[in-house]
Amino acid sequence: GFGDFLANRMKKSLEKKVAKSNLTEENIKDTLREIRLALLEADVNIDVVKQLVANIEKKAVGTGISDGVRADQQFIKIVHEELTEILGKTKKELNLGSRPSIIMMVGLQGAGKTTTCGKLSHLINKKNKKKVLMVGLDIYRPGAIDQLVELGQKNNIDVFEKGKQDPVITAKEAVDYAEANDYDVVILDTAGRLQINNELMDELNNIRKNVSPQEIILTVDGMTGQDIINVTTEFNNLLKLTGVIVTKLDGDTRGGATLSISFMTKLPIKFIGEGEGISALSEFYPKRMADRILGMGDIDTLFEKATEGVDQRTMEKTMRRMFTGQFDLEDLRNQMKQMAKMGNVGGLVKMIPGLAGKISDNKIDDAQRRLDVAEILMNSMTLKERREPRLLKAITRKKRILKGSGRTEKEFNELLNQFDKGKKQVAEMTKQLKMGRMPNFGG
Ligand code: GDP
Repeated sequence: GFGDFLANRMKKSLEKKVAKSNLTEENIKDTLREIRLALLEADVNIDVVKQLVANIEKKAVGTGISDGVRADQQFIKIVHEELTEILGKTKKELNLGSRPSIIMMVGLQGAGKTTTCGKLSHLINKKNKKKVLMVGLDIYRPGAIDQLVELGQKNNIDVFEKGKQDPVITAKEAVDYAEANDYDVVILDTAGRLQINNELMDELNNIRKNVSPQEIILTVDGMTGQDIINVTTEFNNLLKLTGVIVTKLDGDTRGGATLSISFMTKLPIKFIGEGEGISALSEFYPKRMADRILGMGDIDTLFEKATEGVDQRTMEKTMRRMFTGQFDLEDLRNQMKQMAKMGNVGGLVKMIPGLAGKISDNKIDDAQRRLDVAEILMNSMTLKERREPRLLKAITRKKRILKGSGRTEKEFNELLNQFDKGKKQVAEMTKQLKMGRMPNFGG
């Protein structure tokens, strides 16, 4: 995605001025400006943007052509590396070494802390196959403990709570209870406030001293913009955080907040929240986030294009059928017709982040040819056959179609195999989407 973004946005300046020469202050000036704008658009803190661009410039200037890699490609690589580096380079695992492991969740009211406790418990329970106990310690926000209890009930995770009892005492009791009852992980949902104050910090510090958590994780709202750095820094100064979870990175937020936090606080981001549902928590991969922060332009273009000449109703209907497992060859045919309106395979590939430049012209031609063959074959089928592909197992039908289309048996079989494979992939994708977020098909 990232490479394509640059390709789209900065192609001209890069290719004309840089491709065959060394990178100089002068010939990368325009490109750096584009990067600066893109980062600001992604809501990255201005100080971070300045530093980042300065770093890129420093690294880039003087770099020339080496090992047959063009200077403009090297420049793209430098930017990507620099972003990934700032975002923490590699995925950082949770420390779940002790038994029970204690994870203390902290954060301001409304950041999504309680929701995230539920999501994290669910994830640890499912992925790590561990028995998790959630502990309700937010005795100030009305309904917070009820919310946690409800999350637990819905998702089969036990909850320990003692109503309005002093959270410092409840925390200790919960850990004792977890030890006695064979829990692997204890997740403490501590109290939040609208703002940081001494009372809150004293309480959190006392809980920390009382139960010595392996992880102290701050939940921050990824939509809050600039204030996010101050909040993170203050919590970190007082509690020595082991990580951050950034929530509300769903929709079209580009995740600029993650870059600001990583750069300014150097704390590892361990997860990101991408929705309200229980499964909407993803592990944080610096590389993927680097892609996302700068790669959005292409996806936008793709969807803009998609909505231009395409018959929305047909597309919507096809998508619905696809995601409810009813997809058949007639749907495939309709979908291919709509796709064709968006352009040929080569044009589409250019727009999909991560694909441009990675697929050879030969492969693109091959894919286009296969689509054409598929269309010819499907045109020779009856509607009934397309609606019920299993009918095509009958040898007489197959013979008739081959004769009518003038295609080979091999091509015929290939189409049916591809269709079967595609259907399975969609089923798998649907499962994933249901666990995370469901795309909106416009209705
Ligand atoms: P707390 O006060 O920090 O415990 O906040 P809550 O857990 O009650 O969350 C506040 C609101 O943010 C709720 O409406 C949540 O559903 C919502 N929320 C939490 N995480 C996410 C997220 O990743 N994406 C979206 N869209 N909403 C979220």
